[in-house]
Amino acid sequence: MLDVFNGAMASTMRRIGLLGGMSWESTALYYRLVNEEVRERLGGFHSARLVLASVDFAEVEVMQVAGDWTAAGALLADEAAALERAGAECLVLCTNTMHRVADAIEAAVDIPLLHLADVTADAVRLAGLDRIALLGTRFTMEQPFYADRLRSHGIDVLVPEGDDRTLVHDVIYDELVLGVVREESRAAYVDVVRRLVERGAQGVVLGCTEIELLVGPDDVPVPVFATTRLHALAAVDFALS
Ligand code: GLU
Repeated sequence: MLDVFNGAMASTMRRIGLLGGMSWESTALYYRLVNEEVRERLGGFHSARLVLASVDFAEVEVMQVAGDWTAAGALLADEAAALERAGAECLVLCTNTMHRVADAIEAAVDIPLLHLADVTADAVRLAGLDRIALLGTRFTMEQPFYADRLRSHGIDVLVPEGDDRTLVHDVIYDELVLGVVREESRAAYVDVVRRLVERGAQGVVLGCTEIELLVGPDDVPVPVFATTRLHALAAVDFALS
C-alpha cells in the first residue's frame, strides 16, 4: 500500500528547473540537497524530478567584473527559457549574486522564479529575527538588489566593513568556487561574523551559495541562514505542493 501511495506522489511531483554552474561546486550541493529532501519526505527510492542548465562560470565572471549585467541577464534568460522548454515548472537560480538579473530572467519565462532573497527573508522572519548580517560576493553585499529585497520584508541588513568585505569576496572567488576550503579562511569568516554580531546582528545570512561549504551553524554564535539549503528546501516545497 505504501509503495502504491509513494508511486502516486511521484507522478504528481512537479519538475524543478535548476539554473546553475555559478559555481558548479554549489550546484552539486543543490542537486544533493533536493534529492535528499525528496527522499526524506517521500521515502523509498524517490528522488527529485528536475532539469539542470549549467553555464560556463568563466563567461559569467567576466561579465560580472565588467559590470555587464545586461549581457549576463540575456545569457541567463536564454538558459531559463531552455529550462522551461525542457519541462521545468519553476526556476531555481543557484546563486545569490546573479539575482542581480532576476528581472531579465523572469521576463523570459512564464514559470515562477523562486527568488532566493524572498526564501531567505521568510526563514529569518520565521526565526523571529529582524536584524541580520549579510555575507556574499562584493556585488551582493554592496549593490542594492539583494539587501533591499531582504529589507522589503522588514529586515535590517548589516554588511561587513570595507576590509572584511574584501576578505569575504576574495575567499569566494579565489577559493570556494574553485573547490578550495581552508581552515584559515573559516577562522577569518568567523572573525568577520563576530564583528557583525558586535554591531547588533542577530543572525547571519550566508548569502553566497558556496559559503556553507566553509562555515556552518557550529562555527558562529548566532543562527545561520544557509541560502543553498533554504533554496533547495523551497524548491522541494514547490515540487511537492
Ligand atoms: N555562488 C555565488 C553566489 O551565491 C557566487 C558566484 C556567482 O557570482 O554567481 O553569489
